[in-house]
Formats: sequence, structure tokens, C-alpha cells
Amino acid sequence: MKRRLVRVVIDANACVGSGMCAGSYPDAFQVQADGHALFIGKIIDEAIAKDAAELCPVSAISLVYEDD
Ligand code: SF4
Repeated sequence: MKRRLVRVVIDANACVGSGMCAGSYPDAFQVQADGHALFIGKIIDEAIAKDAAELCPVSAISLVYEDD
């Protein structure tokens, strides 16, 4: 069975607004006025999502998979 990345979730309680995700991938992440990042990507690119999750200094980015 294949897994498919269906969602990129940012934990607003954990996000410290460092901007690492948005700085690296501005088409996918944006830091909002409230200081927390939001996933804004029109398509979910797994490589980008994984890299951003690794870049995040507080591990606030989670990847949600579903079985195909
Ligand atoms: S890298 Fe992490 S802490 Fe920084 S803005 Fe993105 S989600 Fe928030």
C-alpha cells in the first residue's frame, strides 16, 4: 500500500515565527500577522514539506499521510 501526503500541518502553539519555512519556500509557507506560519501551497510537494519540517527549529511542521 502506498502512502500519500495529504496535509501539511503547522502547530500554532509551537511555531515561534522564525520564518525558516517561509524564507526557504515562500510559495508554500507564509508567516501571518499573528506571527505563526501557515501552509499556503497550492500543491503539496513532499520534498519541500519534508525539508521545511527539518528546517523548523521547533518541529512545528507535521506531515499527514493517508493510505492510497
Ligand atoms: S520554521 Fe517553524 S517556527 Fe519558523 S515560522 Fe516555520 S513553522 Fe514557524
